[in-house]
Amino acid sequence: MQFQDVIGQEDIKHRLRKSIAEGRLAHALMLLGPEGAGCLPLALAFVQYIACPNKSETDSCGQCATCRKIDHLQFADLHFSFPFFNKHPSPHNNTCSDWLGEFRAALSEEPYLDVELWRSHITKDNKTLQISVPEAGDIVKRLSLHSYEGGYKFQIIWMAEYLKSDTANKLLKIIEEPPPNTLFILIASATEQILPTIMSRVQVMRVPRLSDEEIHQALLQKGVEPTKAEGISHYVYGDWLKANVLIENEHPDELYTFQFQDWMRKCYKKDVLGLVRWAEGMNDLSRDDKKYFLNYAMDQVRQNLIRNYTGDPLIRMNGMEKDFSDKFAPFINDLNAESMLDRLQLAYRDVDRNINTKILFTDLSFKLHYLLTTKA
Ligand SMILES: [Zn+2]
Repeated sequence: MQFQDVIGQEDIKHRLRKSIAEGRLAHALMLLGPEGAGCLPLALAFVQYIACPNKSETDSCGQCATCRKIDHLQFADLHFSFPFFNKHPSPHNNTCSDWLGEFRAALSEEPYLDVELWRSHITKDNKTLQISVPEAGDIVKRLSLHSYEGGYKFQIIWMAEYLKSDTANKLLKIIEEPPPNTLFILIASATEQILPTIMSRVQVMRVPRLSDEEIHQALLQKGVEPTKAEGISHYVYGDWLKANVLIENEHPDELYTFQFQDWMRKCYKKDVLGLVRWAEGMNDLSRDDKKYFLNYAMDQVRQNLIRNYTGDPLIRMNGMEKDFSDKFAPFINDLNAESMLDRLQLAYRDVDRNINTKILFTDLSFKLHYLLTTKA
């Protein structure tokens, strides 16, 4: 991965390159940022930039043997630790090496990997993921060996919040004083669960959420049709992984499902800022799409009401809709359902009348909040 393949984050790229140019590279770096912002791709691009013998001022060459090996995640001095669940009955044997093949495959497929996507690659159950103590032993062991390729050794710890405290404690010494020519890159999306003793030993670089505009431009570059790109960029709140998922969904229904569920959650919580943003996103849709969405919303309210009456047999829902309905249906009853349907129907009519839809949808959201939170 080269810096040019990483969406946006020009400031971080600049700071990373500068740390090399000025010889101020810390031996342990933490890229701290929300999922979907690109911490992992940035780490990979940075590793490639450091290791590439033919780099320019701004990027690795992307073509030399080193770049190609890193690109294929087959560079012998690039090591990964990541959350996993135990495979072996004896806890001493469980390390990331059990999952390395799966991890490489998942990362090659989607460099903007997040924990949920990773989990879906390795388990269907709700198993606990963690970076276990034996993995710390493995890290210490492999970093004490000589470099295979003759340069830097890199240890990426992806999702450092999954380090068990015993694991983190075992790593303190090596993070503080790593063997020569070793770079630790820790990646995390939140610091609350990370030991302060780890935090104090790393140089933290905060990676911001991507802007709507950065997502929008990246979607256009991928050849996504402009209206869809606009809709998605307003919708995903800077999460490129989510944007990527939505590109794949050719059928608009899935986008509406996603949008509807998110809308209902925000209505219920009365997430004012979120609702304003959501209404802005809706405003960018074409008139037909707005009507289609409102029709979809009415159908979902009806289906949830039917589910409450019949238990299940008559509803028409796909898996994602059913999962959501488990939590949503209890808030729908015959009193509020009728008012909700009226409101949605009115909005449908108003969309046709070319009323300012940003105000229309904001107003509708507050009315739905009231209806959803009023007990039958
Ligand atoms: Zn190169």
